[in-house]
Amino acid sequence: MPEPTTLQHFIGGKPTAPAAGEYFESTNPATRRPLYRAARGNATDIDRAVTAATAAFEDPRWRDLSQTRRGHLLRRLGDLIAEHAEELARTETLDNGKLLREMRGQLATLPEYYHYYAGLADKIHGDVIPTSDRRVLNYTAREPLGVVGAITPWNSPLTLTSSKLAPALCAGNTVVVKPSEHTSASVLRLAELALEAGFPPGAVNVVTGFGAEAGQPLVDHPGLAKISFTGSTATGSRIASAAAGRFIGSTLELGGKSPNIVFEDADIPNAAMGVVAGIFAAAGQTCIAGSRVLVHRSVHDELLERVTARARAIRIGDPLEETTELGPLAFADQRDKVAGYVDLGREEGARVLTGGRATDGGGLGGWFYEPTILVDVDNSMRVVREEIFGPVLAVLPFDTEEEAVRIANDTEYGLAAGVWTTSLSRAHRMADRLEAGTVWVNTYRAMSPMSPRQGFKTSGVGVEHGTETIKEYTRLKSVWINTGEEPVADPFTMRS
Ligand code: NAD
Repeated sequence: MPEPTTLQHFIGGKPTAPAAGEYFESTNPATRRPLYRAARGNATDIDRAVTAATAAFEDPRWRDLSQTRRGHLLRRLGDLIAEHAEELARTETLDNGKLLREMRGQLATLPEYYHYYAGLADKIHGDVIPTSDRRVLNYTAREPLGVVGAITPWNSPLTLTSSKLAPALCAGNTVVVKPSEHTSASVLRLAELALEAGFPPGAVNVVTGFGAEAGQPLVDHPGLAKISFTGSTATGSRIASAAAGRFIGSTLELGGKSPNIVFEDADIPNAAMGVVAGIFAAAGQTCIAGSRVLVHRSVHDELLERVTARARAIRIGDPLEETTELGPLAFADQRDKVAGYVDLGREEGARVLTGGRATDGGGLGGWFYEPTILVDVDNSMRVVREEIFGPVLAVLPFDTEEEAVRIANDTEYGLAAGVWTTSLSRAHRMADRLEAGTVWVNTYRAMSPMSPRQGFKTSGVGVEHGTETIKEYTRLKSVWINTGEEPVADPFTMRS
């Protein structure tokens, strides 16, 4: 077998060997075969990357670049991603086991992230404020922050990195990315493409490695102006505390336990597809997974029959194959975590309607787990309250809209929610009453870089996507210019 490739950090526009000379192995989760060795970053590597990003931020080649030109670079990067879409999609599938079909879909829309912020780059500006004193010109300016740290998870590495990178660059910052230790390869390639697009060396840096060894030093680095994090709620909480202690901002996109609510007036075949897509697409390894299905008792059996039949027919196998519908979980611990939760559910009294077993993916040898449906559950059980991040669905019946709202909102999370109904008024009522940053009606998992999103409760802080997120990557300056020629007023009569 050939030696696995070795991946270095990408610092100051160059592949850079790790300071400690150490590497870690990444494995193909479908086959458990070694994929590559990646640089094992530490505080010294982070310091080098922040230093390179600081130099790039202060370099007139970046600092004085017009906003229009910044837009051109983002457009070029989007175009390069489109040209390399197939290569990038395969890289991600080999790394995290998600279906090639799904990663191709993500890569088909990824250029839009850069094209959208390319269009926005020359529209970032302040205002002139009409204060009560007409002799004073008061205006605001939106300035970049400096070096932004981006820490990302493994489930959709390029998409989740781009949600941060595109607006951060659009606003004139430079960036240090610490991708997940499970998926280093595609983000390193993205940094190379950014250089090729014309971003100056040091504008985009990547340090690979583990959370405690590379992520924590990035959050703690005094040269960092902002941290943008996507990952679990537990890690997000630690990062937010560290950032607050240093008075830098943090944008956090965290976990979820999203309700997908099916009313008696829904189109049941459509709703069943939406439920299956919500939890079994991506093997449930998505923050917005519709992992709790709330279904009106009168349509409970019909919906469950359809969802169960589709779940049992899901083709498990090699994620590179066009016909595969469910790939492996991304790594061994993740599979063990999912299996552990299903065992816990059994102990709590849940009944496994289908699934509930680990498999080797038809002889591939990877970390697969069957699509699993749990019934006889209630909202107090841990399998219903905690994020599993796998293909495990809990089904809860309800009798009234009021009860559906109560169960849906009875969670620490508030990332997303789905509603299936043919009643326009009910759709609006639910959208109004659900405590979730994103509400989908008669669809699920729809997303666009144009549409701002925010996790409520422990699912996040701050906004990603859309024009709104630019505020997360800029600071506001207020400038007062006295245009009058009168002498400055007596200081002891000035207003406080
Ligand atoms: P994780 O929190 O374990 O790791 C995320 C990243 O943080 C990784 O790069 C990791 O190395 C790093 N990290 C870990 N400890 C750290 C520390 N102490 N300091 C700094 N960095 C540290 O999450 P994960 O398992 O990689 O991803 C799954 C989680 O991400 C799920 O909870 C999921 O819901 C969430 N997620 C949220 C969104 C969203 O948009 N809300 C999207 C995708 C995933």
